[in-house]
Amino acid sequence: MDNLDWRNLGFGYMKTDYNVRCYYRNGKWGRLELHSDEYVPMHMAATCLHYGQEAFEGQKAFMGKDGKVRVFRVEENARRMQSSADYLQMQPVPVELFVEAVKTVVDANRRFVPPYGTGATLYIRPLLIGSGAKVGVSPADEYLFIVFVTPVGPYYKEGFRPIRVMIDRDHDRAAPHGTGHVKAGGNYGASLISEEVAHKRGYPGILYLDSAEKKYIDECGTSNFFAIRDGKYITPHSHSILPSITNMSLRTIAEQELGLGIEQRKVEAAELPTFEEVGCCGTAAVISPIKSIYDPQSDHTYVYCDGDEAGPVCTRLFHRLQGIQFGESEDSYGWMTEV
Ligand SMILES: *Cc1c(COP(=O)(O)O)cnc(C)c1O
Repeated sequence: MDNLDWRNLGFGYMKTDYNVRCYYRNGKWGRLELHSDEYVPMHMAATCLHYGQEAFEGQKAFMGKDGKVRVFRVEENARRMQSSADYLQMQPVPVELFVEAVKTVVDANRRFVPPYGTGATLYIRPLLIGSGAKVGVSPADEYLFIVFVTPVGPYYKEGFRPIRVMIDRDHDRAAPHGTGHVKAGGNYGASLISEEVAHKRGYPGILYLDSAEKKYIDECGTSNFFAIRDGKYITPHSHSILPSITNMSLRTIAEQELGLGIEQRKVEAAELPTFEEVGCCGTAAVISPIKSIYDPQSDHTYVYCDGDEAGPVCTRLFHRLQGIQFGESEDSYGWMTEV
């Protein structure tokens, strides 16, 4: 693709050449099909349309410095989609099928993998939906697994910039024993209102507290929360947060390479004033360093950065993980899979 302005791509949908699909019917998974149509024929009584049988994943393929295309920790996404499927009573996609689907769709759309050095990547979106017709509330008998891709621009166009975040005390993203720990589309439906409130007030990010007591930090709307204090990487442990693969990888780097202690535990909102650096992490941005957190209850803003400079630990973690992803530094943990 010579005519694409890779550096100025946003985070949006663009049509590519192919998507892959696989149906679960009559008790078994069928063959992986390559499609160029962007539309999905669907029964109007499909359970995904009525009863929320939908889960998705988000991952990326990177063009390495050496010209090879690689995907990051694809088996982890496969396993996470299985746990989402289990909770939503959907048919889990076998790990091998998931990995094959991802490799196939990336390979088929190779010309959309952004060139090395532009900072852009190929975003991969697997989804699993209940496609069988039901009217009574029960799981579908038929499922459709789709993987599509779309090139996305560099998250940080002018470098790694800290963001302002607001605590939302008026809405919950997920119930204490609900679906917060799985990547269900319904969690996002429930979070759109908070996004709207925060954006109207000028905050690009939202921080959720635990729904039961509003005492502990859960996570940001689409990414996990972590903090640095006294040589420790601290991240909340909670049933209602999504186990981020980026967070898991940052913990490994923090412990093995930066010599930080790892604390994965309940984190009280009352600890916010004590942190040296805070950030949120996920596939889209790797790390979004947090500049400040506004708490509407106390009308107080906790400030973590002077100006637009991210803290030293966030910066090191960010560059090391991106270095592995773009094949610039050694993949010591075997996280990358070549396509
Ligand atoms: C997907 C997601 C994340 C980030 O997970 P990664 O595997 O790091 O991309 C964090 N929080 C929520 C709510 C998510 O849906």
